[in-house]
Amino acid sequence: MRSAARRHHSSPGAAPLPREDAAHKASRPSGSSGRIDAAYGHLAAALGDDAVLGPGSDLSAYEDPYAFGSSEDFRCSGAVLPRSVEEVQAVLAIANQHGIPIWTVSTGRNLGYGGAAPRVSGAIVLDMQRMNRILEVDEEHAYALVEPGVRFVDLYEHLREHRLKLWMSAPSLGWGSVVGNALERGIGYTPYGDHAAQICGMEVVLANGDVVRTGMGALPGATTWQMYKGGYGPSLDGLFLQSNLGIVTKLGLWLMPQPDGMMSCTVRFQRESDLEAAVDVLASLRRREIIQSNAQLGNVLRDVAHRYPRSRWYDGPGAMPDEVLEGVRRDLGIGWWWILRFGLYGDKELLGARFRIVQREFSRIPGAEITGHEHLASGSDGLHAWEVEGPAGRLAGVPGFFSLNALKFRGDDCGHLDFSPIVASSGREAARVYNHVKARAREHGIDYLAGFTAGVRHLNHVFTILYEKHDAEQTSSAAALLDALIREMGRQGIGEYRAHLAFMDLIGDQFSFNEHALRRLNETLKDALDPNGILSPGKQGIWPAASRKQRAGTR
Ligand code: ADP
Repeated sequence: MRSAARRHHSSPGAAPLPREDAAHKASRPSGSSGRIDAAYGHLAAALGDDAVLGPGSDLSAYEDPYAFGSSEDFRCSGAVLPRSVEEVQAVLAIANQHGIPIWTVSTGRNLGYGGAAPRVSGAIVLDMQRMNRILEVDEEHAYALVEPGVRFVDLYEHLREHRLKLWMSAPSLGWGSVVGNALERGIGYTPYGDHAAQICGMEVVLANGDVVRTGMGALPGATTWQMYKGGYGPSLDGLFLQSNLGIVTKLGLWLMPQPDGMMSCTVRFQRESDLEAAVDVLASLRRREIIQSNAQLGNVLRDVAHRYPRSRWYDGPGAMPDEVLEGVRRDLGIGWWWILRFGLYGDKELLGARFRIVQREFSRIPGAEITGHEHLASGSDGLHAWEVEGPAGRLAGVPGFFSLNALKFRGDDCGHLDFSPIVASSGREAARVYNHVKARAREHGIDYLAGFTAGVRHLNHVFTILYEKHDAEQTSSAAALLDALIREMGRQGIGEYRAHLAFMDLIGDQFSFNEHALRRLNETLKDALDPNGILSPGKQGIWPAASRKQRAGTR
């Protein structure tokens, strides 16, 4: 069970924390505890006592383990754990009947963005972890059909146990669910690392209990549900990504036919100012798909944070000063400023050809050190992911836990909050964002662990804001920094791809073209598909009609 430790005090002079605003507090299903008790009674009658954690149960697993707001924010009233589609339908009927919102999670490991906690306090968490069957893995056509509770480690073990010639892709922390991560547009490090892009066919339960299969799955006895994404008519899968329009109960996902070999590559750049040139070369290599997977470029502090506690060099207030970081580099014998990691894939000849191009292009940057380590298949049926050991494993989709180490950087009580803007894949933009965020982080006394993950045409800038949870000033500063960055980047036409509960509205506010036409469209869909507003209200800043009315009333 995850830690429930939370401290919430505001410090004099610190910026106010983003909280649930009055309107959203008003939209809580607070009114009658009788209504809530009745709903839990009906849930227990329909699903059995063992499927329901009602008010008064230990609900620590459904708290945000890195919470930084008021202890009243984002608190569920309980949770329900269905075992089947029919039980999901029963939950929805009860939620509609009592007007109590539910908040869907697959395994609730969405850490840094709120974990399993709901946007609206009092909501019932619909925890899908018991629906955890791997329904199908088709080796020939390279896909899987899974339920929401299937974790990356489960799918990996399945592939391994059956010695299937397939690779999956896992995010840097491999403990969550395949479905939850793909629906949140998570990223991994194989050529299939854009997880949402691998989705092919869903089964979704709508708020009214109707069960829909998207794409070719709408054909009874469909033979190509996981083979053709389009289907017939509008493509609807996207409606259920980062969404509060339905509950996904099955998800098809393309897997990668295992290659004959892989090369794990590293490029080290000597100077902080190499960022611009490094990103320009990287961007071109990604666009031409010479580099086939999401490549990760991190600054030296980010790398150090994964290996050592900060207190070894600095325990003072504010961000670690540059001269201290210089001392860290000297101490550890690190000569570089930026490190880039990525994989190349194919047989020996393809790896050689790709690596030669990578070498040629990066070696134009003075001092760049390029290394490649080959992993080749021992037999004739390709390289199994489990043959790739150590840190290179994640380039083969092996779920790992290495990135948890960064959470020790600020001691045992370290929390994190992620700032994740999408930046154009060009050196100038990367340098501009880097300088801006670095300056702002320093002003707020926060260390800047800079990471750029290069997609095909964009950079996913992931800034993991670390703080000590018990330190009110640090948590306030972290939240105030994130608030400032979201607004400033928004004014520059840069938006985030993912949001912590406390920032869902603010990020949504930035996407305001044509007086929030996108939000209005989302609201139209919300009202049509979920008239009682029971599905994850407030997810991604999209609220049902009743909450919008209350919100307008409190202005
Ligand atoms: P993880 O896989 O990391 O444990 P979560 O289970 O926390 O991820 O899910 C992340 C987010 O994805 C949730 O907050 C929710 O918005 C969405 N989500 C997860 N599972 C489902 C599902 N089965 N149907 C609809 N949305 C889901």
